[in-house]
Amino acid sequence: MKLSDVKLTAQELMDMTNKYMIETYQRFPFVAVKAKDMYLYDEEGQPYLDFYGGIAVNNAGSCNEKVVAAIRDQAGDIIHTFNYPYSIPQAILAKLVCETIGMDKIFFQNSGTEANEAMIKLARKYGTDKYGPEKYHIITAKKSFHGRTFGAMSATGQPDNACQMGFKPMLPGFTYAELNNLESFKAEVSENTIAIMLEVVQGEGGVVPATKEFMKGIQELCKEKGLLLLIDEIQTGWCRTGKIMGYMNYDIKPDIVSMAKALGGGVPIGAICATKEVAQAFNLGAHGTTYGGSPLCCAAAYAQVNELLDRKLAENAKEVGDYFMDKLRSLPRVKEVRGMGLLVGVEFDFGGAADIKHGCIDRKLLVTAIGTSIIRMVPPLIATKEDCDKAYEILKASVEEVINKTEG
Ligand SMILES: *Cc1c(COP(=O)(O)O)cnc(C)c1O
Repeated sequence: MKLSDVKLTAQELMDMTNKYMIETYQRFPFVAVKAKDMYLYDEEGQPYLDFYGGIAVNNAGSCNEKVVAAIRDQAGDIIHTFNYPYSIPQAILAKLVCETIGMDKIFFQNSGTEANEAMIKLARKYGTDKYGPEKYHIITAKKSFHGRTFGAMSATGQPDNACQMGFKPMLPGFTYAELNNLESFKAEVSENTIAIMLEVVQGEGGVVPATKEFMKGIQELCKEKGLLLLIDEIQTGWCRTGKIMGYMNYDIKPDIVSMAKALGGGVPIGAICATKEVAQAFNLGAHGTTYGGSPLCCAAAYAQVNELLDRKLAENAKEVGDYFMDKLRSLPRVKEVRGMGLLVGVEFDFGGAADIKHGCIDRKLLVTAIGTSIIRMVPPLIATKEDCDKAYEILKASVEEVINKTEG
């Protein structure tokens, strides 16, 4: 039986989901049955213009032809082997990623949060091997987001957010400082600090880019104090910000980078890349994963990365993103439009983000809301200016509707 032949109505499928699933998500009110490039399609074949891209995952377009072909081919050869035998997809992806971003070594994981666990573990291992058992403290930014497992949750600088509430105590060894405030980071450095961990644009934190001066200051601080610079590129990586990696917009060189989301074009894969010097701390048996770096996921990621590079989607993200952000500034009641490339946030001067989002979905545009006043858009990087014009018109209509409702 093909699952796409299942004959249930949308309502039946939604009811079934609500009955059997532990729900932690505010769902879009439709069943997605197909996706292609810039669009999702519901059970009636209605198209939704996709400006959330599976949350910055489908950077080369949903169901990119090359990625789909790579998955089909690889599934017929080897899907999974565990990391005992060498494998073709793993070797060629490792080389491609390391050479493309100028790092020495890679370790594959299955998700973003897992990549961050690996990043935190590697930093601790390096620090405690080299300097002694107390050298494991990491400074991260307030309003950051690093994931939903304990290391990543503890790194997430939002002690009062749903991410941490009810799950305490967090892991020891994390302190938080203010993004774009170098002095506040300096103040947190102690003799036990091994690393500073940052996103170059805070995604979940409201689309807030780090400034050039701040990142430069952080790099200098790390050099001066012998700290590792850990960059979480899970949302900003793979061409999203107009460069292959977000940090490439800055004059910095991280010691470890984590990535996931767009790397696999939709299959679950994450990774860390590190310098040779730091990477050696993961010696035999120090870390592991059953699925991480599976032939299937590596084959998909290899196709995805080649698509992103061959089609120059970083350049497109920059050009189209700049165009889009300029245009968005003329929406009514805008407080600020922020972002980098096609990682775009619109902050309104009133708390209508959830209503605006629903208005967009009703009009067949998919966006997400952050907090009460921010709309975030992370479309596939194949988006054109025409796609942005279309999104803009829908957004404008939705904003106007919400304003009319609240003021009327
Ligand atoms: C999405 C995200 C994560 C978590 O990735 P998952 O694959 O959901 O575990 C971590 N850090 C950042 C910056 C993210 O955007």
